[in-house]
Amino acid sequence: MSGGAQSASTQSASAQSQSMMPRLPAVHLLVDDPACAPLIAQYGREQTVDALRALLAGLRTRARAGAEGGFDPEAECAPAAILAALGERLRAANTSKLRAVFNLTGTVLHTNLGRALLPDEAVQAVVEALRWPMNLEWDIDTGTRGDRDNLVEEQLRALTGAEAVTIVNNNAAAVLLMLNSLAQGREVIVSRGELVEIGGAFRIPDIMTRAGAILREVGTTNRTHLKDFAEHAGPNTALMLKVHASNYAITGFTKEVSVAELVPLARERGIPIAVDLGSGTLVDLERYGLPHETTVKETIAAGADLVTFSGDKLLGGPQCGVIAGRKDLIAAIKKNPLKRALRVSKLTLAALEPVLNLYRAPDLLPQRLTTLRLLTRPAQAMQALAETLLVPMQAALGPDYKVKAEPMQSQIGSGALPVDRLPSYGLAIRAVAGPDGKPMRGNPLGVLERRLRALPRPVIGRIGDDTLWLDLRCLEEPQRDSFIQQLKSMNA
Ligand SMILES: *Cc1c(COP(=O)(O)O)cnc(C)c1O
Repeated sequence: MSGGAQSASTQSASAQSQSMMPRLPAVHLLVDDPACAPLIAQYGREQTVDALRALLAGLRTRARAGAEGGFDPEAECAPAAILAALGERLRAANTSKLRAVFNLTGTVLHTNLGRALLPDEAVQAVVEALRWPMNLEWDIDTGTRGDRDNLVEEQLRALTGAEAVTIVNNNAAAVLLMLNSLAQGREVIVSRGELVEIGGAFRIPDIMTRAGAILREVGTTNRTHLKDFAEHAGPNTALMLKVHASNYAITGFTKEVSVAELVPLARERGIPIAVDLGSGTLVDLERYGLPHETTVKETIAAGADLVTFSGDKLLGGPQCGVIAGRKDLIAAIKKNPLKRALRVSKLTLAALEPVLNLYRAPDLLPQRLTTLRLLTRPAQAMQALAETLLVPMQAALGPDYKVKAEPMQSQIGSGALPVDRLPSYGLAIRAVAGPDGKPMRGNPLGVLERRLRALPRPVIGRIGDDTLWLDLRCLEEPQRDSFIQQLKSMNA
């Protein structure tokens, strides 16, 4: 049988490698080595011994591959070398996968990088909430059970003009909960121009199905009229829903029905108007020199019965979703058992409350609210910073790359004002052509992008037009020195 021949040859091969196998120190000797004691103290005996066994198994595999695989028994199998490798392995396994990075993408509210950065007031409050029991659902005045929404309800009502609010895990949850509470088994009218897909698989038609509501699309992609709503608004209509076109703009021959235009029809037929605003802007951004984005207050004043929005987009707070609007509708939403499944944690509320309190001083908001401070940072500030970074960056990258300080364009991100750009400044890095005048072979920008990502605090830029762009809008003065410091660890 061929199987017999095969096993014989395998046997002789393994006998051969056995003879070349270096003598590895015994596990118990390594564990008792004084150099192992600090590892056991830090990582515990079980974890240390398991990691050591795995390391020795790896060495055996490498020994079998032999010198061709780059194996050096003298260097790798000495007890000191094994224990050093063990320390490294344990350290790596115990390092968080969630790490701080430098966001130089030019997108301020970057969903993949965690959206809004929070002001210190919020950071302190979260630390406190982690360390101490809190009156999360406890009314200190009466000594009885309370409602976690009450912690922020008064301030949110003041900022939005809504009669009532409730808070859930994120805006997607807010839309789901609203639809499921008010429109299960009934129709929701939406304009075809507003059947949005937000990145990460949030699609209005899908959410509608999961919420148990029936989507009634009206109008066309570019034009929807009041009569389209009027034709379909009947006894089985639960809601008229408007959705903010967060990541696209329909231009040209277009017609959208505003909330104000819908109001007479909605009131006459007794159908509530709901608006998914996406980015929940609580102040008029124009007063800070930014493009106008419809605020929650304006939407409610125009006649919306319910508005949903995110906490971690333009609002500048923690991830959460707010539903604000009519008291009776909010009461119905709060009775839905799904509300319990989608509720926010105490950490979220701890962070949200101080952020909302910053809005009490709108004149000071551009200094205090991190998101707004980054968005309103003047291009000159980034230009001055770019000039101080030119020399250290060029020194770190060496002669294969040319670094220049150049103007660039930031964007807000996370579906807020998708077509608007903010004038910014940063470093533009290009590969230098070789002596033959041709660009370097391979993918020099890709290589550089990976090297920047491999830094202790990864630097995330953006590649386009044969250039690696490092937009400095989100690199503030206090982080400049640590940014330069780690560049020095980059070998040119
Ligand atoms: C961003 C957005 C959502 C999703 O909000 P999350 O807070 O990310 O869950 C839903 N609808 C619109 C219009 C949005 O812009």
